Amino acid sequence: MAVWVSSIITFNFPRSDYNVGVKRYGLLAFLVIFSSLSILSYPNRIEALEETVTEQELREESLSFKPRKRELLRIKKIAIDPGHGGRDFGAKSRNLFLEKEFTHRLATALKKTIEDQNGRRVSVILTRTGRNDTDQYKRAFAANSSEAHVYLSLHTASGYDQSSRDLGIYLSEKGTLKAGSDSWKDINRKYSAYNAVLAGMFRKNLDGFYEHKKFFIRRGKFIPLFGIDMPGVLIEVIALNDPKDELMINEEEFYEKLAQVLYAALVDYDQTL
Ligand SMILES: [Zn+2]
Repeated sequence: MAVWVSSIITFNFPRSDYNVGVKRYGLLAFLVIFSSLSILSYPNRIEALEETVTEQELREESLSFKPRKRELLRIKKIAIDPGHGGRDFGAKSRNLFLEKEFTHRLATALKKTIEDQNGRRVSVILTRTGRNDTDQYKRAFAANSSEAHVYLSLHTASGYDQSSRDLGIYLSEKGTLKAGSDSWKDINRKYSAYNAVLAGMFRKNLDGFYEHKKFFIRRGKFIPLFGIDMPGVLIEVIALNDPKDELMINEEEFYEKLAQVLYAALVDYDQTL
């Protein structure tokens, strides 16, 4: 440093011009002191920019993030089925949180998410709006008569064995209806290809949502899909018997986040139509 400073001084200060030399000396001295101070304080500035981000901060920041709007282009009506209701309370958690309450709360959050993103262009109906008993025939009638383009039946996993903590996406059986078949229950079969795409989109979006869970896809005869005359799936979105899941069900943010993930799957499906 000393050699560098003195070489600049000797190079720039001709002895014959004293006044200019003084001015230059002053300016150079200022630059030398300023740059030395900058160099000396530089590592400290870098340190000041660095700070460890805690899990808590990361979570708060990501919760405050507002994703850009993603509108539905082809789907104009959606039927959401909050599983169970009335005297049929479905599964229950250890602390007696009921499936019928959970599905209704999530359905309401999903309805709000869809409306926030699309305004009046897309309408959403719930197959049960209150605490009433609603049988499958009434649910199918409500969805079909609304001419919805897609049907989503929300449920939770239940049971007491470990394996039931993984979550399922369920589809109607494959295969065409027999000619003249009057079984209203089997009508959803004819949407087999759409149902498969829809289920794939839900699994793709939901897979990263829980770090401790996997989603499987299964076909069969499932009552909540009986009589549904449009593409539709049944999803177990949480396991009420899993203590880890039970920790989340009282947080409003959890419902909003889950609704956003379900909505993202609907947007992905919409883009394939
Ligand atoms: Zn259920």
